[in-house]
Amino acid sequence: MRESNLRAQESSPIIQVQNLEKTYRTARGALTLFQGLELTINPGEFVAIVGQSGAGKSTLLHILGALDAPTAGTVHCASTNVATLNAREAAAFRNREIGYVWQFHYLLPEFTAIENVAMPLMARGTGRRQALDVASNWLKEVDLEDRSEHRPGELSGGEQQRVALARALIGSPRLLLADEPTGDLDESTAGRVFDLLERLHVTHGLTSIVVTHNLDLAARCTRTLRLEGGRLHAMDTTSKAGPHPGKA
Ligand code: ADP
Repeated sequence: MRESNLRAQESSPIIQVQNLEKTYRTARGALTLFQGLELTINPGEFVAIVGQSGAGKSTLLHILGALDAPTAGTVHCASTNVATLNAREAAAFRNREIGYVWQFHYLLPEFTAIENVAMPLMARGTGRRQALDVASNWLKEVDLEDRSEHRPGELSGGEQQRVALARALIGSPRLLLADEPTGDLDESTAGRVFDLLERLHVTHGLTSIVVTHNLDLAARCTRTLRLEGGRLHAMDTTSKAGPHPGKA
């Protein structure tokens, strides 16, 4: 059995957030997004996070991915207490453990698809030739081997997002954090990108968290949580009946 499949069978939580608080200090005063937010995610879960615009979904993903720091509380993510990392440690943690995909692909426009995919490996010191070899396999995995020399501007929106997924996963992270990964795509392209996300989640033994406003896509996840009032609430997407009491 592949190591990646074994990973998903580990039993202790891969994410454990306790009593999370996040307050932004702004010119107009304090803006408290989370207060007492709790979250436990086990390896192999595919969790959707939904909620109104401004509820704090992106901020929560940023905190889980060590891109932003909590004001209070503990955030254990992939065996690391991310709240205590300094900037250098946070960058190394992200490179090793986190695959991040945003609504906009953020590929570097002056580099080809294959160079963009290889970037995280080169950032951790892998030689260019070896990194490009691995990137080539990843482009095959996202069905884009015939676009490897294209620059981002020469790719469709769906193709750009598939390249972004390959770049997110080339470093073999345990966690995939995706912030509205299909939000900028038409419905059928969004469905295909989500199919790919599901396939990669399974074949690479990932734990995935996807922020989406699309309840049909959320219903395809193993669990959906609604962020509301600074906390996460379990949600039944099969009936679309809205939040029901439950522990996140
Ligand atoms: P969502 O992803 O649910 O739409 P966000 O996490 O992007 O919400 O933002 C939540 C709220 O926090 C918004 O009202 C936003 O304006 C505010 N916010 C986000 N980042 C900052 C920041 N760095 N400083 C101050 N306020 C912020």
